[in-house]
Amino acid sequence: MSVVEQRRHLATAIPGPRSQQLQDRKAASVSAGVSTGLPVYVERASGGILVDVDGNQLIDFGSGIAVTTVGASNPRVVEAVQRQAADFTHTCFMVTPYEEYVAVCEKLAELTPGDHEKRSALFNSGAEAVENAVKIARAFTGRQAVVAFDHAYHGRTNLTMALTAKAMPYKQGFGPFASEVYRAPMAYPYRWVGDAARVAEEAFEAFAAQVHAQIGEQNVAAVVIEPIQGEGGFIVPPAGWLRRIADWCREHGILLVADEVQTGFCRTGDWFACDHEGVVPDLITTAKGIAGGLPLAAVTGRAEVMDSVHAGGLGGTYGGNPVACAAALAAIETMESEDLCGRARQVEELFRSRLERLADKFDVVGEIRGRGAMLAIELVRGGGDTTPNPDLTRAVNAFCHGQGLVTLTAGTYGNVLRFLPPLTISDELLHEGLDILEQAFVAHA
Ligand SMILES: *Cc1c(COP(=O)(O)O)cnc(C)c1O
Repeated sequence: MSVVEQRRHLATAIPGPRSQQLQDRKAASVSAGVSTGLPVYVERASGGILVDVDGNQLIDFGSGIAVTTVGASNPRVVEAVQRQAADFTHTCFMVTPYEEYVAVCEKLAELTPGDHEKRSALFNSGAEAVENAVKIARAFTGRQAVVAFDHAYHGRTNLTMALTAKAMPYKQGFGPFASEVYRAPMAYPYRWVGDAARVAEEAFEAFAAQVHAQIGEQNVAAVVIEPIQGEGGFIVPPAGWLRRIADWCREHGILLVADEVQTGFCRTGDWFACDHEGVVPDLITTAKGIAGGLPLAAVTGRAEVMDSVHAGGLGGTYGGNPVACAAALAAIETMESEDLCGRARQVEELFRSRLERLADKFDVVGEIRGRGAMLAIELVRGGGDTTPNPDLTRAVNAFCHGQGLVTLTAGTYGNVLRFLPPLTISDELLHEGLDILEQAFVAHA
């Protein structure tokens, strides 16, 4: 296994000449629809460092969008993948099954919220998991309508595109969208138009009134919620809001689907973001952090709901691939043995103290928010003007990239910088990355 020293190193400009050559080859061979946020071509990665083809070493504050939570090329994951690949790479679980798939479902039953009887089904991507959760909810309830929220992101397939809120780039030109998908107001404290102290109540009341008037509760199969919104800008709803939605769903025989594709697996300082609110969803979708970088996703839920689907109704050629399952078991073992939930809470403390200092110096930092190692700052014009500031967000992001720090943006208005470091990264690298962020504000704010 290649050893990568856990330090930042700039050998060339970012991107360097070899990355630029590859970017030219990309333009001539890869669809323009597939864009890249930071066109440095990665050759190796380990822990919190990405090494590019020009020999630059970058600090990773993105984890491949919340995927390599256990660190890039985590040694346990690598070993499990190599061993499983040598044993067998594929049989299709629907043809001839294998233990690894069952073992992942057992772990999901143990770790997801609630101690009721559960079942799972495995898939390849977050979108596929969300899409299947909707299928299952419709089959179980015999109802069709699905409610999602403003700023939601649930994927790029036809159904999940319909659930996703943002037109550009996710939906623009790709309609018509799946029917029976409805959108409700999100409890977004920073931009709530009503009484700021009553966001949870007002947002819930607006949601319930809208569903009642426009859809009818008896027609709703599921409410699909990100407990903390991801692509929408790490929007954290106020305490109590999720619980009120959960109680209301139960009252009306509607399934609560928690989309924890981004928030799951220690990211927010708990195994799942619902744990923080003590909310037990009927179905939970997971992916991203589950398998240390291999493609795996799951729907886990109440046994009677999951078992209501006819045999053959769920599945797919690759869903629960044995190599991905072996990786997931190794990743989960790492999260348990290294207490990565605890580590996410430490990362939050470190980040918050630094980001608060930043906000004291620069009034363009409108809000610091998030939980655990899923943190963000929303950038505004400043001086009391909370108009979104996407230009500054882009400039700060580009400055960080140029200094060898991988950062990501998010948000409906493109004005959120989000931080998703791997949980095995050292405090030293976190501080170094945050120093670069501060320099970016000095240069651009
Ligand atoms: C990323 C994401 C998805 C889609 O997952 P893919 O693996 O990209 O299909 C769905 N929901 C949430 C909350 C996500 O963050």
